[in-house]
Amino acid sequence: MEKTEWEKLIDNLVRQGILVSPKLVQAMRKAPRYKFLPDNSQPYSAKDIPIPIGYQQTISAPHMVAIMNEALQLKVGQKVLEVGAGSGWHAATIAEVIAPKDAPRSEWGHIYSVEIVQALAESAKKIILKNGYSDRITIINADGSNGYQQKAPYDRIIVTAAAPKVPPPLLDQLKPNGIMVILVGDYALFQILKRLTKDENGKIKQESLGEVAFVPLKGKYGQA
Ligand code: SAH
Repeated sequence: MEKTEWEKLIDNLVRQGILVSPKLVQAMRKAPRYKFLPDNSQPYSAKDIPIPIGYQQTISAPHMVAIMNEALQLKVGQKVLEVGAGSGWHAATIAEVIAPKDAPRSEWGHIYSVEIVQALAESAKKIILKNGYSDRITIINADGSNGYQQKAPYDRIIVTAAAPKVPPPLLDQLKPNGIMVILVGDYALFQILKRLTKDENGKIKQESLGEVAFVPLKGKYGQA
């Protein structure tokens, strides 16, 4: 049987050493990007590039989602906060790891995904419902630079828009032994992809994982 374009893209990410963990490869297979894009974007869905989703926002490039998910060290049962739901696709790739359908429901984790643009939050809700994720992902229309205190603390936090600096509420809402992946820097140029790890005593260790270019984080702790 001929491989689909999406499967070929996944094979390439594996060959390039970007996608490594078998469970993340599996998650990318189960949540293909085209299911989260409108009809007019379908021809581009298996290209390794960001694609506009309206409101000057983009669905991230597959290699970037792979890099960020690898950095998060995801496991079944984790409670995750995403800032910047956009299309809901990145959240779905995470849900496939923390709450896989083949694990007992009692072991499932959950992802709370905050989106500041109301229209995007509404369409993400519809897309995740249509694709069977609404019992694993909750979309919230709010300023996620404040985090989402109602369900804090989180095992993992991922920020998919570029912040001028790490928003303090996000650090507060990260559990001990938790990991945050975030893009920090001046959004007009490029940002640094950072992984922050909080130890048992609340001490933060920072690692830089490379340079990236993302849309700006808005809101209270966003870009001016
Ligand atoms: N993860 C998304 C793509 C992210 S693009 C996907 O899989 O499609 C970044 C998103 O962050 C945009 O949708 C933008 O509207 C949103 N955003 C920007 N600032 C935000 C904030 N302060 N709180 C919540 N969402 C924000």
